Amino acid sequence: MVTDYAEIAKDVAALGAPPNLADYQALRADWNWDDIIAELDLPGGSYNLAHECIDRHANGDRGDKIAMIYEATDGEVTNYTFKDMQREANKWANAITDLGIEKADRVFFFTDRIPELYFAIFGTLKRGAIIAPLFSAFGPEAVMERIRRAEGVMVVTTPNLLSKIDAIRDDLPSLEHVVVIGHRQGVEAGEGNLDYMEMTEGASEEFENEQTGSEDWSVMHFTSGTTGLPKGAAHVHNAVIGHYATGKHVIDLHEDDIYWCTADPGWVTGTSYHMFAPWSNGVTNLVYEGGFGAGRWYEAIQRHNVTVWYTAPTAIRMLMKAGVDSARQRDLSSLRYVMSVGEPLNPEGVLWGQDAFDLPIHDNWWQTETGAIMIANYPSVPIRPGSMGLPFPGIEPAIIDDQFNEITEPDQEGQLALKPGWPSMFRTYWNDQDRYDSRFQGGWYLTGDRAKRDADGYYWFVGRDDDVINTAGHLVGPFEVESVLIEHEAVAEAGVIGKPDPVAMEIVKAFVSLKEGYEQTPQLRRELMGHARQRLGPGVAPREIDFLDSLPKTRSGKIMRRLLKARELGLPEGDTSTLEDD
Ligand code: ATP
Ligand code: MG
Repeated sequence: MVTDYAEIAKDVAALGAPPNLADYQALRADWNWDDIIAELDLPGGSYNLAHECIDRHANGDRGDKIAMIYEATDGEVTNYTFKDMQREANKWANAITDLGIEKADRVFFFTDRIPELYFAIFGTLKRGAIIAPLFSAFGPEAVMERIRRAEGVMVVTTPNLLSKIDAIRDDLPSLEHVVVIGHRQGVEAGEGNLDYMEMTEGASEEFENEQTGSEDWSVMHFTSGTTGLPKGAAHVHNAVIGHYATGKHVIDLHEDDIYWCTADPGWVTGTSYHMFAPWSNGVTNLVYEGGFGAGRWYEAIQRHNVTVWYTAPTAIRMLMKAGVDSARQRDLSSLRYVMSVGEPLNPEGVLWGQDAFDLPIHDNWWQTETGAIMIANYPSVPIRPGSMGLPFPGIEPAIIDDQFNEITEPDQEGQLALKPGWPSMFRTYWNDQDRYDSRFQGGWYLTGDRAKRDADGYYWFVGRDDDVINTAGHLVGPFEVESVLIEHEAVAEAGVIGKPDPVAMEIVKAFVSLKEGYEQTPQLRRELMGHARQRLGPGVAPREIDFLDSLPKTRSGKIMRRLLKARELGLPEGDTSTLEDD
């Protein structure tokens, strides 16, 4: 791990907007979830994500405020107010109620980022049914497996994706309704399908929400599948407490912010932080339909005056690849705060933000299962590049040993665990209660990640349990080695595995992809080996380095080390439903 990190001192007054969380230690000491609950609406004691995100603003002072700025792939921009969102969500809620969709039914969403997706998601939550979003890039097998396991009754899709549903429909006895949103392309739903426009056109604009309680189901998300078969983590409406609280104190949302979260709705950041955190805080939210492109992304920030930006390490590494000048050429001065989640953010990435945007990038840690951010770097707290940061107030993490005892000494590696009971905690893995129960032991929720805590309480990610390498008696976290490799100017991305070895048990093996303009030569390999040995010492530095054109990643952008390992060893690849196309 980098130990000579520079602390980036912050002048809170110069941040552009005084942070909501001005004094971390004081808030942590005084934390009471009831104070957050008191800031929500919760009519008649009910908890409903759609009410807290849409209705309470639509019915109150923010009715005519822009909730969603939608930029389509063709560049056309349409704004929707909170009242617009409410009206459209109500129409959808009425339409599905007429169809017989019931509380806790599973409704799947398999569309690109178009406005109807958001209307239908909130309308479904109003009805009290469970939303289950999927990546639009999934193939038919991945879609089928998820709908089958969750016994989905409806899938909402678009004409360009319909053939994937047609291919699997007969194999899904639970699936009663296929809804097609076709009007944007002027395409009809087709026989046997329902047409979104026809369903909602005549529907009433008023809807009385299902009186969902805090423990009623709301969202089901399949995990990213980085370590194996994706698990269907199911959440309840109570999670809105966590979305709102972290939206306020980590994402630091202010009334006048223009917020952009680049996550796809197919993974949990795409609901918790692309929808629920900004909208429960009543903030204007950019929905950018297009895909990644450094230039295009910078232009979107510039065009919409984005102030707060939440993205992922994989995107940051791609931006880094495009070069600092590409950022510097644009006027990105609207930005005041940048964050990252999904994988560890290498120290190099944190500092690159400073070069490119005059803003360091704030890493934070959480999982599908935790529903909301658990550990974070906050605007008012000095960043330690490479660290996930400090626990969210009200969250009690610990480093534990194999017997589930807390390790209190600093800088000791162990499993990262959380004291159960935070508001946004998942409540089951759908149809897999045993696996759920196995994650709670010794009074802890076991995250499956390994980490260390330093003397000041900052948490440092080491690796996933399955990824940690045991080499000649040392435990080596892949992140540490990868971070050193990407410090080298030629390296774009690095993935590190343990390769079985008769003497050392495992040796450290690295796979790297190079930035444009660099060639995969034996000389460069030697240079990288030398760089790593110098920074890490011979015990930890990779003994082998292979060049790859790109590393295998999940759709949410995480490096799939298990696949690197399976390929290296010629073993079966296991579930690859979340693997990104090459
Ligand atoms: P699966 O559980 O199916 O193997 P996954 O764990 O990648 O997939 P997610 O819930 O999307 O599914 O990801 C959560 C995991 O991502 C965390 O447990 C951690 O390993 C990693 N992660 C997320 N954010 C960070 C971060 N800031 N630093 C380090 N690791 C992170
Ligand atoms: Mg996981």
